Amino acid sequence: MNENQNSKEIVPKSFEDLIKEVHDIGICGECGGCVSFCSAADLGAIKMSEDGPPQYIDKDNCLNCGICYLICPEIHELNKELNERYKFKFPIGNWLKIVTSKATNLEIQKAGTDGGVVTSILIAMLENNLIDGALVSKRINPFQREPFLATTKEELIEAAGTKFDLKGHISGLGQYNTFVPTISKLKYVVDRDLMNIAVVGVPCQIHSIRKMQELSILPAHIIKYTLGLFCYENFKFNETARKKMEEQFDFSFNDVEKMNIKDYLIINLKGKDQPLYIEFSELHDIMRHACSVCENFSNFYSDISFGGLGSKDGFTTSIIRTDLGEKIYKLAIDKGYIEEPPELNTSVEKSKMLAKIISFSRMKTKRAEDALKHLPL
Ligand SMILES: Cc1cc2nc3c(=O)[nH]c(=O)nc-3n(C[C@H](O)[C@H](O)[C@H](O)COP(=O)(O)OP(=O)(O)OC[C@H]3O[C@@H](n4cnc5c(N)ncnc54)[C@H](O)[C@@H]3O)c2cc1C
Ligand code: SF4
Ligand code: SF4
Ligand code: SF4
Repeated sequence: MNENQNSKEIVPKSFEDLIKEVHDIGICGECGGCVSFCSAADLGAIKMSEDGPPQYIDKDNCLNCGICYLICPEIHELNKELNERYKFKFPIGNWLKIVTSKATNLEIQKAGTDGGVVTSILIAMLENNLIDGALVSKRINPFQREPFLATTKEELIEAAGTKFDLKGHISGLGQYNTFVPTISKLKYVVDRDLMNIAVVGVPCQIHSIRKMQELSILPAHIIKYTLGLFCYENFKFNETARKKMEEQFDFSFNDVEKMNIKDYLIINLKGKDQPLYIEFSELHDIMRHACSVCENFSNFYSDISFGGLGSKDGFTTSIIRTDLGEKIYKLAIDKGYIEEPPELNTSVEKSKMLAKIISFSRMKTKRAEDALKHLPL
């Protein structure tokens, strides 16, 4: 018997384990991270599929390195390390400061989803040479976005917000997915020779980035700032589901001017003064399955997290979590890119904001715990 037979060899988990632990139980979020950062990308080991989880192209080309497994946001490996590094405390993570604010620039206020604070901070960083660009997402048709590397103020404003271009028409768009696979585009940032970038993303995306940084996977080193968005869930629906929604809630997607997610899915319609408010519980059928097991509402591994929840219309709630987050938020305030009305930032108002975020975080954790019980584990 040789030494190798005696010693217990530790073999990293690989794509095969991702298939068993994520794909087969239906919780792959199709973020594309595993395919983009596969060590055997040049050999052609795995690929995205048309509609569904990634798959092997040729299993023999897999190097069994385990990178795809470790960076997948659905896998719990590395969470302990991240929780320590980012001082996680249940249920909303570590935070230094919570504020409500808005852009001072009217064009950005108008373009922004809530208060245009994310866009303003990105512009402040760009104009003060902290970043060369930001990986955001840009609308490509009324109901679809794609990852976008913005390197100018104009491009950042173009990428802001959730207003829809009514010149487009929704029919014929096929599958509509509110999730934007930003991570899969990270690789191409390297080709642009940028050294310092910021990334805007929902919690599962920032989770993958933090895992990449923990493992020092390229290009994690050029991601200097992470701007996280709150996220209760994302939606995926086809033509049939869209028609069902129109009937159930008595509106036409062709009249949608703006969509936002806060306590509800809020839909502003052409010619109507009052928006349509739809409860999350009514949207169960179109929620992406991966979202049902996701516990992270407030984006607790980001430098700053942003949402509308807790703020008045036209304002953004920001949870500043890290020293880097504090530095960029302060820059945007000091240089006049954003403003924080004192009357909206009293200790009572801040407690109300926190209470809402804690409540949504707990609801999301409970939903994930319940959904996990019903998975075919
Ligand atoms: C899918 C999704 C779900 C959300 N869910 C909630 C929620 O449940 N509760 C809540 O309070 N807030 C939620 N938010 C956050 C909220 O909608 C605002 O993005 C946030 O308040 C910042 O507003 P702002 O006006 O400061 O941002 P803006 O200045 O408008 O900037 C927003 C930035 O986000 C980028 N972006 C837009 N869509 C996406 C996307 N799908 N993926 C990655 N980046 C994107 C834009 O390119 C832009 O850079 C969600 C956001 C998204 C994208
Ligand atoms: S080579 Fe590594 S990253 Fe690529 S599929 Fe195999 S285990 Fe995953
Ligand atoms: S969630 Fe993303 S990283 Fe995980 S298996 Fe699916 S596509 Fe790959
Ligand atoms: S709910 Fe979770 S898994 Fe779904 S898009 Fe948001 S962060 Fe990602």
